[in-house]
Amino acid sequence: MEHYVGSEHRVYAMSAANPAVVTVQPRDRVVFQTLDCFDGQVSYDAQPLSCAVRDRFRANPATGPVAIAGARPGMTLKVHIEKITVAPRGVVFDCTVGSNDPPGRLVPILDDSALFADRFTLPLQPVIGTIGVAPAPEQGAIPDTTPGDHGGNLDTKDITVGAAVYLPVFVEGALLGVGDLHGVQGDGEMCGQGIELPGEVTVTVDLLEETLAPGPVVETPRTICVIASARTLDEAAKLAVERARDLLARHLQISTHDAMMLLSLQADLRISQVVNPLRTVRVSIPKTLLPGLV
Ligand code: CA
Ligand code: CA
Repeated sequence: MEHYVGSEHRVYAMSAANPAVVTVQPRDRVVFQTLDCFDGQVSYDAQPLSCAVRDRFRANPATGPVAIAGARPGMTLKVHIEKITVAPRGVVFDCTVGSNDPPGRLVPILDDSALFADRFTLPLQPVIGTIGVAPAPEQGAIPDTTPGDHGGNLDTKDITVGAAVYLPVFVEGALLGVGDLHGVQGDGEMCGQGIELPGEVTVTVDLLEETLAPGPVVETPRTICVIASARTLDEAAKLAVERARDLLARHLQISTHDAMMLLSLQADLRISQVVNPLRTVRVSIPKTLLPGLV
């Protein structure tokens, strides 16, 4: 069955207290209509383009949440990304300047590319910046600008069409929310933004009985990415490596030392983003090392 969730249903934080917009069944398809990271407050037609006057509490709205029938704490929610449709225009601002009114660019989207500064044609690879479930009730509400074990503002370029995102379930129904689309972004998201734009995301959801890792895992056609977020890049890297090591050791039934050595030889430690309240990194493991994991 297919469900459509309009962007009028959106939250600025992920929380067990958010009521579900709709309850869907495992293997159902859900289309999320999403606003941009500014919640539509920035006019793409303004001259000069400015993101200065806006309510910052309305950042990164996530459409939803959607409850998945049968999801219970200890399970894993699988979100397979089938399609991402983006608006014909997006914006990007250089948020590294430390000003409320940073310089920015309007970026037209042409079929499968983006035209930056009227000169640079950039291949589109739409990314879901924010995708997450409700954290455990004792964690309260986590703003959609913050990444964590529940997902959230992961800003990880692998979260694109064809990938599957695996999120630990912390509350009954899981409560999935999706937002903050990027037309394209690089590892690190160095200026603080991708090409920010509204759009539509089509996913199918499913449930796994077991937890894969304490935080998000992303499956791409060639890799399994174990994601972790922490206050510093060093802490995030340590956490992601430990989790990847433990996943490998458990799945392959090898010692943690062998798992650590295998990771060192075959996996890549990559930076997802350096601009959010917590930093995010991932360990990208060739799928061939983890046969039958998912
Ligand atoms: Ca983001
Ligand atoms: Ca963004």
